[in-house]
Amino acid sequence: MGKRLDELRGHLGVVADLGAASGVLGWDQQTYMPSGGAPGRAMQLSTLSRLAHERFVRDEMGESLEAAESEIAGLDPDSDQVRLVRKTRRDFDKARKVPPEWVGEFSRITALAHQVWEKARAEADFSRFQPHLERIVELRRRYVDFFAPYDHIYDPLLDDFEPGMKTAEVKAVFDELRPQQIELVQAIAERGAPVDDSPVRQRFDEQKQWDFGMEVATAIGYDFDRGRQDKSVHPFTVGFGTGDVRITTRFDPNFLNTALFGTMHEAGHAMYEQGVNPDFDRTPLGDASSMAIHESQSRMWENLVGRSRTFWVAFYPRLQEVFPGKLGEVDLESFYRAINKVERSLIRVDADEATYNLHIMLRFELEIELMEGAVAVAELPEAWNTKFQEYLGLVPSDDAEGVLQDVHWSGGMIGYFPTYALGNLIACQLWAKIEDDIPNLKRVIERGEFGDLLGWLREHLHRHGAKFEPVELLSAVTGSGLTARPYLRYLREKFEEIYNL
Ligand code: ZN
Repeated sequence: MGKRLDELRGHLGVVADLGAASGVLGWDQQTYMPSGGAPGRAMQLSTLSRLAHERFVRDEMGESLEAAESEIAGLDPDSDQVRLVRKTRRDFDKARKVPPEWVGEFSRITALAHQVWEKARAEADFSRFQPHLERIVELRRRYVDFFAPYDHIYDPLLDDFEPGMKTAEVKAVFDELRPQQIELVQAIAERGAPVDDSPVRQRFDEQKQWDFGMEVATAIGYDFDRGRQDKSVHPFTVGFGTGDVRITTRFDPNFLNTALFGTMHEAGHAMYEQGVNPDFDRTPLGDASSMAIHESQSRMWENLVGRSRTFWVAFYPRLQEVFPGKLGEVDLESFYRAINKVERSLIRVDADEATYNLHIMLRFELEIELMEGAVAVAELPEAWNTKFQEYLGLVPSDDAEGVLQDVHWSGGMIGYFPTYALGNLIACQLWAKIEDDIPNLKRVIERGEFGDLLGWLREHLHRHGAKFEPVELLSAVTGSGLTARPYLRYLREKFEEIYNL
């Protein structure tokens, strides 16, 4: 590595360290911090993120970046060095386009909006949140202006989570997906054979749930020498470099799925981060390629592996041993059906595999209409309920169950939602390729062996970190761009069988 590139890495390392320190404080805030620590912690986090931002956008970084750019001229465009410089240039130019005044205003407005949203949701009172969301949408419109010209007003927002991806691409894929997914969910509700989920809705001892989840996470390949699991209200994964990637989970004493599949989901995220090339630590390449690629990994382990029959061939006897009184008399087939029960419901985070994307497409469409000005913030609850009725056949009884349910908008996170659905699609695109590459995949999973699968993911995906943009990576690995087809095929095959359609 050249001297200039070394210098650039030195500067980037400081920014990354500040980010990691914020990460540790954020992890502590959601796991062990006493409630009295909240005001102080908010100040600490705000100071660290301001320092990281200032360090990143200062002139010295720009000069160091330019020097590195001339040093790497002529190197292989796909080399780590060139990709590091290119990614840094992309992030740097984006960060420099946003004036510090906007950043300050945005963090002030969203901090306040978050507090108001919590109350508004508790009281199911949208009118209370409305003026705050209006200000957020206004600020987001100003943000988008910093990146003009663009093809679509939503593009700069999406780009923060899916580098290089365009709104038009997502729309095209969702347009193909939406009618078919609605039709499948309707068919299940109207003509599906009944599925009994009472086996997973019993009282399950929390410690035993914890132990079994740890056993599964270890078996699938989550490395506890470089990770740990704790409890939190909302499960999450956070990494501070490849040597320390942590997950959290939560328990429902009367529902087995919550902790079990939550742990597999977060372990999927964490194994991705643990698998990044350690040379990328403390640089922008040490991140994920995108949020959708990240989510593809969690969904793959949670659903394609965890909710499959093959996985439970290996693990169900063990689970029966842990809960003999609850599951001893329940056969594998009944258990498989119970964990895959489909139900049209109001709350996104509780949604099953077949209905989940409908919750997401609804939010994506409303965000676009908000940004375009086609729907005013004041009209949002009604627009929400109309779409909900159309997609899921239900109407929320109040706004707490409807438009107020998610935290994202109160934090100004517009553009994030589609990544959840894209993660589901990408997981299936990758899976189709994995099945081609590992012909005996089902047999090894039935034996509880995951080395081939994890090895494939490490080799093709994980190790690259953020070296490639999501669509570029996906195309390189699967030979095609974003498409809904493998996902739709998977959903149909799985649920037509379970529901005898
Ligand atoms: Zn996730």
